[in-house]
Amino acid sequence: MMNECIFCRIVKGNLPASVVHRDGFCMAFMDIQPVNTGHVLVIPTDHVAYVADLDEDVGAHLFRIAQRIAVALPRSFMQCEGVNMFLADGEAAGQEVFHLHLHVFPRYRGDRFGFVWNSSLPHIPARDELDTVAENIKKALT
Ligand code: AMP
Ligand code: ZN
Repeated sequence: MMNECIFCRIVKGNLPASVVHRDGFCMAFMDIQPVNTGHVLVIPTDHVAYVADLDEDVGAHLFRIAQRIAVALPRSFMQCEGVNMFLADGEAAGQEVFHLHLHVFPRYRGDRFGFVWNSSLPHIPARDELDTVAENIKKALT
């Protein structure tokens, strides 16, 4: 199919990928536009766009593999100083490929990657506001 998701095409072997790991539930391969060398994407092999649609056991498995990759990065990159794991869920969160994926990539002091956050007008919530928000999220937990 012409408009098939690019990550599904990678899973099927119809697009090239530099594979780090593959098993019955997930695949991990190198990002073609790495934040830093060693940037890996971990994806479920079955197409899922958003976190809400992801089977919890598959999600746990993705994190297990991402964790192993995060541990492997400093071993494979002599100067890897830290690791970020990052998942963009939805366009507003920066998701560009709508096949769920977990980014795992090395970080270095001063590498200039980061979230842009306007901290000029900080909102420091009062405890009762935090408690109310926590209560709302708690009610929504399944
Ligand atoms: P996101 O913004 O979280 O949706 O990230 C999508 C990521 O997929 C970006 O970091 C892209 O560089 C990466 N990407 C897009 N196409 C490919 C591809 N064919 N192989 C590997 N990584 C890709
Ligand atoms: Zn897909």
